[in-house]
Amino acid sequence: MGISQTFRGGIHPKEISNGKAVTGPLPVIEAPAPLRVTVAMSQHVGAPAACCVKVGDVVNMGQIIGQAQGAISAPVHASVSGKVVSVGTCIVPNGREVAAVVIQNDFEDRWDEAMLAQKQSGDVAPERIIQMARDFGITGLGGATFPTAVKLDTSKLDPKPDTLIINGSECEPYLTSDHRLMVEKADSIADGIMLAMKASGVSKAFVGIEDNKMDAVEAMKKAAAGRFEVVALPAKYPQGFEKMLIYSLTGRKVPDGALPSAVQCVVLNVGTCAALSEAVREGHPIVKRVVTISGHVGKPGNYLVRIGTSTMDLADMVGGFGPDVRKIVIGGPMMGMTVPTLNIPVTRNYGGLLALGDEGVAPKESACIRCGRCIKACPMHLMPTRIDAFVRHSDFDGAINAGAMTCMECGSCTYVCPAKRELTQSIRMAKTIARTRKS
Ligand code: SF4
Ligand code: SF4
Repeated sequence: MGISQTFRGGIHPKEISNGKAVTGPLPVIEAPAPLRVTVAMSQHVGAPAACCVKVGDVVNMGQIIGQAQGAISAPVHASVSGKVVSVGTCIVPNGREVAAVVIQNDFEDRWDEAMLAQKQSGDVAPERIIQMARDFGITGLGGATFPTAVKLDTSKLDPKPDTLIINGSECEPYLTSDHRLMVEKADSIADGIMLAMKASGVSKAFVGIEDNKMDAVEAMKKAAAGRFEVVALPAKYPQGFEKMLIYSLTGRKVPDGALPSAVQCVVLNVGTCAALSEAVREGHPIVKRVVTISGHVGKPGNYLVRIGTSTMDLADMVGGFGPDVRKIVIGGPMMGMTVPTLNIPVTRNYGGLLALGDEGVAPKESACIRCGRCIKACPMHLMPTRIDAFVRHSDFDGAINAGAMTCMECGSCTYVCPAKRELTQSIRMAKTIARTRKS
């Protein structure tokens, strides 16, 4: 099958254009390094890293401070040079409490020589690229945080992937960090794409970018120089979800419960490609990332911040939040997490910080009027209202049989529901109960 450009269902939240218009044109600004960073040992899917430093140790920027544990894991690196002042725990954006290392910044930005010494120029062997992705802690920066080395190592897959899908869609309202990265670092992303193609052994790559970022499309086309295809896709949420993107770019449908490899695809985010290039070419692990800070804040923008910077420091940096703020979200408004505290450090998947007023708070729900809008919006072709009805009657088997496990929790159904019913939350509950029963 060829390119189909879009998928059935999905929504067009007005905040996509309104929210993105604020920060989309703003170049990335490097944030001042904080006095202290709190670096979480679990910033990825898989086993948390095991802390390998102790209080009093002096560390270099980029030095490994947490060793990967097992095949699906990733090491963690110091994002500043300085002294370890605490080894304890912190709360990460998904609400979990995880082990963490606090480093007092000495403001010398002294890179770790052992990491720098590994940088490669020119042609690099596939095995070396995969090893560097592993050692430099490259994980998905689009939100999923899956270790990139695991995706790139296709040696045991049969059939082997033939296509690399690069996600430049950034379909969440407000968020513009990937947009700016594509405009400002297109060559680095392109280098990362070529490295990823080499490592995974695929012959072709597509970059899917929504057509509300045509400057990014142009920048990426120029950087591609014919080596891979850059495709402008209709702006529609959730275009950036793996299954939607694969379908839009290749016409292939990932079966329920399967991974992209089931349809011979490997999917990476544009930020991940830039990070892979920086690791291989510069010897730099992920010590910074771009964060969009928007909503009711003093200085909305796209900021390059150190991993481990506290949300409180970010809030201070942008002049604080407005008096009408009712909700703080880390990530985008559709898939992000509402957080009860600002004492949360930036992690690799921390793409946005939003201070939302009334627009971020759902009105009280009312009875279903059977309008069918949730069904039309669901990209997974589910009947959210039906699953929700089962959950409300505590019939979780019914909810599962109606397809709850297929739900990607994109929030489209909840967004369009005129009765403001918490459909996504209800389906998420059914999934959690089903998983609890299994374990
Ligand atoms: S949250 Fe689930 S049920 Fe609702 S639209 Fe998204 S995939 Fe469909
Ligand atoms: S969108 Fe809301 S009101 Fe309409 S059918 Fe679905 S649950 Fe009912």
